[in-house]
Amino acid sequence: MAKLSLDRSRLPFSSYLVVSTKSNLRRSSMATPSSFCLPISMSSPRRPTPNPSSRSTFAAVVSSQLSKEATKGVEFQGRVGFLGLGIMGTPMALNLIKAGCDITVWNRTKSKCDHLVNLGAKYESSPAEVASSCNVTFAVLADPESAIDVACGTNGAAKGMGPGKGYVDVSTVDGATSKMINKHIKDAGALFIEAPVSGSKKPAEDGRLIFLAAGDASLYETVAPLLDVMGKSRFYLGEVGNGAAMKLVVNMIMGSMMASFSEGLLLSEKVGLDPNVLVEVVSQGAISAPMYSVKGPSMVNASYPTAFPLKHQQKDLRLALGLAESVSQPIPIAAAANELYKAAKFHGLGDQDFSAVIEALRGKLQRPEH
Ligand code: NAP
Repeated sequence: MAKLSLDRSRLPFSSYLVVSTKSNLRRSSMATPSSFCLPISMSSPRRPTPNPSSRSTFAAVVSSQLSKEATKGVEFQGRVGFLGLGIMGTPMALNLIKAGCDITVWNRTKSKCDHLVNLGAKYESSPAEVASSCNVTFAVLADPESAIDVACGTNGAAKGMGPGKGYVDVSTVDGATSKMINKHIKDAGALFIEAPVSGSKKPAEDGRLIFLAAGDASLYETVAPLLDVMGKSRFYLGEVGNGAAMKLVVNMIMGSMMASFSEGLLLSEKVGLDPNVLVEVVSQGAISAPMYSVKGPSMVNASYPTAFPLKHQQKDLRLALGLAESVSQPIPIAAAANELYKAAKFHGLGDQDFSAVIEALRGKLQRPEH
């Protein structure tokens, strides 16, 4: 029988990986308070956790069971900037405000700042002004173009950066984009990490995102208490580009899963089965995934309330195809899925949830009016 062998010399992340969950944090040196973060007060009892110093790629991640109550009381002496208040940025910044952080916000569409300003956030009129008035600045932007523009453009964050400051880019972008932003921030004398997230609108609201961080290790440690307010676990993956690559691989898998699930729902319906029953059957078996149970019922009703915009899923598949191309790795299933998302986007479904990709398989899409 042929044996699958992994060439470990081509597993670049394995020597860097550090996994932290809210629970193992309490024992980890990475919980060391930074120069502008006071210690986190955590009162919940300890739970079994993986070894925090584990560096194995195959390390198990134990989802934190830590109550959100335990993160209340986190205090920060520095000011935190937030650029990009979309579906993800808004609840992430809101959780920092709830945790007692001093926040300054900016968003291209200014009105989206109003809610957070009413809750105590300050507003600045450009990314540069946010960066110059904050110790660390987070960016949660749509795509590579907007991430570059906000970080490196005229009045971009790099213009307000300097020694002692940090920039954390949470946007899902490709490694080349991340490296370019890293260079601009470093040239300004500041530190940079990329920290794209796994998890959607609800995990962002619940402070249960998974951060895939890479870049300057000292900045990673400094912002760890902030990441732990917004997320349930975090991975440190080494050099800039590794976080972006990990995120693209995860979303490549997710995009293909959703396309395949869509085919299954429609096929079950066509052969006279109840697709709701299919959702239930899938949820009880080995291929069960929260995504199917959460999205399935609304997909059956042709309703796609937006948590993850379809245009962003297509962007991620496009970027994953570029990543695969760069190492000559065939990804034909993802390539086929990408065509479906492209068709759905072309037919005006880009702002709906990515589960609307099922519409591209119904065979009755109308061309959008121009
Ligand atoms: P979103 O709701 O579409 O928000 C995008 C943000 O980017 C908005 O603040 C938008 O500003 C800003 N933006 C877009 N183009 C810009 C430009 N040219 N200049 C300046 N700002 C610009 O997206 P999201 O769902 O929050 O996602 C944000 C990022 O996280 C994306 O990279 C996405 O792939 C990733 N992500 C999303 C999810 C999810 O489930 N939603 C999960 C994980 C990762 P305006 O308000 O002015 O349009």
